Amino acid sequence: VKKKFKQAEVNIGMVGHVDHGKTTLTRALTGIWTDTHSEELRRGITIKIGFADAEIRKCPSCGKYSNSPKCPYCGAETEFERRVSFIDSPGHEALMTTMLAGASLMDGAVLVIAANEPCPKPQTREHLMALQIVGNRNIIIAQNKIELVTKEQAIENYNQIKEFVKGTVAENAPIIPISALHGANIDVLISAIEEIIPTPKRDPNKAPRMLVLRSFDVNKPGTLPEKLVGGVIGGSIIQGKLKVGDEIEIRPGVPYEEHGRIKYESITTEITSLQAGGKSVKEAYPGGLVGVGTKLDPFLTKGDLMAGNVVGKPGKLPPVWQELRLEVHLLERVVGTEEELKVEPIKRREVLLLNVGTARTMGLVTGLGKDEVELKLQIPICAEPGERVAISRQVGSRWRLIGYGFIKG
Ligand code: GDP
Ligand code: MG
Repeated sequence: VKKKFKQAEVNIGMVGHVDHGKTTLTRALTGIWTDTHSEELRRGITIKIGFADAEIRKCPSCGKYSNSPKCPYCGAETEFERRVSFIDSPGHEALMTTMLAGASLMDGAVLVIAANEPCPKPQTREHLMALQIVGNRNIIIAQNKIELVTKEQAIENYNQIKEFVKGTVAENAPIIPISALHGANIDVLISAIEEIIPTPKRDPNKAPRMLVLRSFDVNKPGTLPEKLVGGVIGGSIIQGKLKVGDEIEIRPGVPYEEHGRIKYESITTEITSLQAGGKSVKEAYPGGLVGVGTKLDPFLTKGDLMAGNVVGKPGKLPPVWQELRLEVHLLERVVGTEEELKVEPIKRREVLLLNVGTARTMGLVTGLGKDEVELKLQIPICAEPGERVAISRQVGSRWRLIGYGFIKG
């Protein structure tokens, strides 16, 4: 019997320092290798956010979870429980804003920490801080490469991890020793996922909202004009549902020039097709990567041009901000560097990097108050009052996370 395809219903982030095994673990869980771009293959590091779905199955006989049709514990035939989507993030320090865009879509996360290195490494700390900033509390720690260390070293590393997470959102996260490369203890990790990262309760009748991570022109060069298909946008739905035939609005939309200044105009179009987890569907819900076919000129969507936009029903989207007033919370120390510098107060006229949802923009500081800052944005953003904003500052040659803020209405 052919069963109806069920879309992934929860997003689980794969986070942690570069080379600690995020992409390898994603493959162990899903069978999918997420580093597929030529530059990723050449450099051996994850550059773009990658989604990979896995079926989690339950054994009706012993009640345990796994990702295989046959129960690894008792051999009985397993049953479909739910589909989950893993978001593989880059762990390289230069790609932190990409990680932050992904973090805004995560319902829970697996923090991957290599057992054969001292903990914490800079991006281990930085990624945990990012989870803290977006308010993610459903965290599991995977102590990876466990086969490379002795029992004593594993215990010492475990103690370092415990010390490191004290007082953070991951304080009570389970720490599960695994070998992503050899597929060891993956079932124990899956059981932890079932326990710690449940599917959030969603209201399908809420106004739909999708955060855009990517966009494409899917036409092959040389396609005849009458055969051209409209632009495709990819992202994750964070509330409500989208249907083929729906009228949608995209904000802030597309840039245009007026009196020598760049402005943005929201656009409306129609959904001509939908894909969820790579399958054609009529309706799409929160969870996993959703591809939306539109009637837009593919010129507008090529090369991720629409990344950072928000999609919803016309007139039902949050406002677009060209200027922002933020309630600011600065960290004590700059995270992500080997030596942790003190965070200096924000200065007038400085330029900060802001991440809001999947959008990122630069903001020029035009006003300062007590725990408050006013910014003029280079690219406007679409966001709700009260939404969280991650704030980074250029320190040396890199953007570093220095704090977060809430949009004041
Ligand atoms: P990422 O940067 O966190 O995505 O790390 P990758 O998944 O790309 O892995 C980095 C390197 O570590 C690769 O050479 C992997 O083969 C290796 N690796 C990952 N997991 C394990 C493991 O459990 N044991 C060992 N020995 N090597 C691993
Ligand atoms: Mg990787």
